[in-house]
This record gives sequence, C-alpha cells and structure tokens, in this order.
Amino acid sequence: MHTYFTDDPVEAAKFISSDKLVVFPTETVYGLGGNALNAAAVESIYEAKGRPSSNPLIVHVGAIADLSRVVEEITPSAHAFMDAFFPGPITLVLPRHPSLPKVVSGGLDTVAIRMPSLPIALQLLRSAGLPIAAPSANISGRPSATTWQSAAEDLDGRVSCILRGPKATVGLESTVVDCTGRSPILLRPGAISVGSLSAIVPEISTDAPDIFRSPGLRHHHYAPSARVCVISTPDEAIPGDQTGYIGLAPPHADAQFKQCVVASHVKDYSHRLFEFFRDCDRSGVTTIYCQSLVETGLAHALMDRIRRAAKASR
Ligand code: AMP
Ligand code: MG
Repeated sequence: MHTYFTDDPVEAAKFISSDKLVVFPTETVYGLGGNALNAAAVESIYEAKGRPSSNPLIVHVGAIADLSRVVEEITPSAHAFMDAFFPGPITLVLPRHPSLPKVVSGGLDTVAIRMPSLPIALQLLRSAGLPIAAPSANISGRPSATTWQSAAEDLDGRVSCILRGPKATVGLESTVVDCTGRSPILLRPGAISVGSLSAIVPEISTDAPDIFRSPGLRHHHYAPSARVCVISTPDEAIPGDQTGYIGLAPPHADAQFKQCVVASHVKDYSHRLFEFFRDCDRSGVTTIYCQSLVETGLAHALMDRIRRAAKASR
C-alpha cells in the first residue's frame, strides 16, 4: 500500500471520510485512526497494527456533540471529568451506543472516548466530522510512537496517510477512567494524575483494576526488544556499548553508555521515554537501565510504563 505523507489535517481528513487509515499526532502519543462508525475501517485498524481484536480501541471526538453517535449515556462522573479535563490526555469508558460497531470496543458493551487537545488533532477530527477510532500508532507489542518518524517506521505501507505533526508533548498514553459505575475506577494512570482526578470526584477508586475491566492490561505492552531493568541510582547501571541509561540523576562521568538520557524533570523523562526505547533498539542496545522515581503525580504513570516494559522484556 502506498502511504501519503502530509502536514495538512484537512487533506488527512479526506482519507478518514473514505474509510481509509490515517496516522495522526496527539498530545499523548501518535494514533492509528479510522472512521469509528464503519466496521470495515475499524477492522482494518486491528489488522494494520497486528492487535488482537479483543483489545478495544479509543474513540476520539472533536466536539461533545459527536458523542451522540458513540455513547448511550454520559454518566454524572463522566460529565464532571469532561468539564474539568476535555480536551486533554484522559479517556473515559462509558456505555456504548447500540449503533456503534461492536468491533470498536472488542465486543464489549462499553466504549472508551477521548477528546485530544493538540490543535492539529482537533482540526483533523473536526474536518472529518466523524468520530475516529484509534489505538497508539505502533505495531502491537512495540513502544508507542511519539514522533511521526517512529510511527512511519512501524506503519509506512500499512496505512493510507501519515499526518506529520510535532513530537508528542506528554509522551505517555492517556489516563483511562471507567465511568460506567456509581464510582469511577482508574484503569490506567496517565498525565491526568490521581490527585487531579480525586479533586474532581473524590470517590474514584485507584486500586489496581481487575484485568477484565481493562482488557488492554491482559496484553503485553510498551516493550522494546532490549531487556529493561529498573534501578534506584545510576551507579547500579553497567556501562558499555550495548547498554542504555535513562533517569534524572546523571551517571558518573567515567560511565559511558551507548544511549544515555539525563532528563531535567519527570515531565521531560516521560516525554522522552518511548523514543529512548526506540533509539536503544535502533542502535543495538541489549539492556536498558531506567532510574525509578517516587510514584506521585506523573511519575505514577511513568513508572507504570517502565514496570510493564520490564515485565514484558524479561
Ligand atoms: P491504546 O489505544 O493502545 O492506548 O489502548 C487503549 C486502552 O484503552 C487499552 O488499555 C484498552 O484496554 C483501554 N480501553 C479501551 N476501550 C475500553 C473499554 N471499553 N473498557 C475498558 N478499557 C478500554
Ligand atoms: Mg498502545
């Protein structure tokens, strides 16, 4: 398949309207999108990504009005989170509208929805005038793509269009909250932190969710080919031409790594993590050392992704 590259969201929207697949930028990570109202387009997303069709997609909208064709009901907690955080890096799980193809949500009666804040993503959604179903724009099992070049590395030739945009500012996938029940449940930590969520709905449950509620948690995620080791200080990392280090603390001046990122703060660490994983794979690194942080705020989401990468790469 020939892939068309563009910087123009209006041009990319035409592919969505004709049920073709488009890679597009958002503030969290790049998405692999198709018309959420067309079952064949949605099926082709799973196929392009090599994703099991039991792992549901997120439906992106450019306006609240677009939700009328996607969800059956907006529950009170969802209203509260939408008022506080839309558009932004948060996904809400709600009862699925009966006319929305079931394949979007892996056969579940619920559907995950999000309104991204990145202007070019909103322009794409608003020009298409359709809800866009999209998982992260990577081949299943690889780290999410945070640049269009990384998305192209995985998906050039598998999608009709790649909309080029900036490097994702957040760099980690969205916070996911199940809003179908009486009290909301955090399913996946993200840039909207537990503290910010509890400030809006204090009843939110933030214990580890059971895997049946969050089907994505059953699947391996975010893994580079290299082995990922979590360490407390850079002194625990073994330097060498096949190892990488990422953290906030600088390694000793004598310690040379093939790839090394000393981030300036947790936001910078999160923003650079997935691209660092990919750089390590590209340059033949076999062991990646990640400095662990105290898990508050954004560091909760960051450590969640690092732990999962460590688990998947063991
Ligand atoms: P990704 O698009 O790759 O970031 O993955 C989307 C995430 O949202 C996965 O972890 C899914 O399990 C989760 N998700 C999507 N739809 C639902 C749903 N209906 N119920 C629970 N979790 C969902
Ligand atoms: Mg993903």
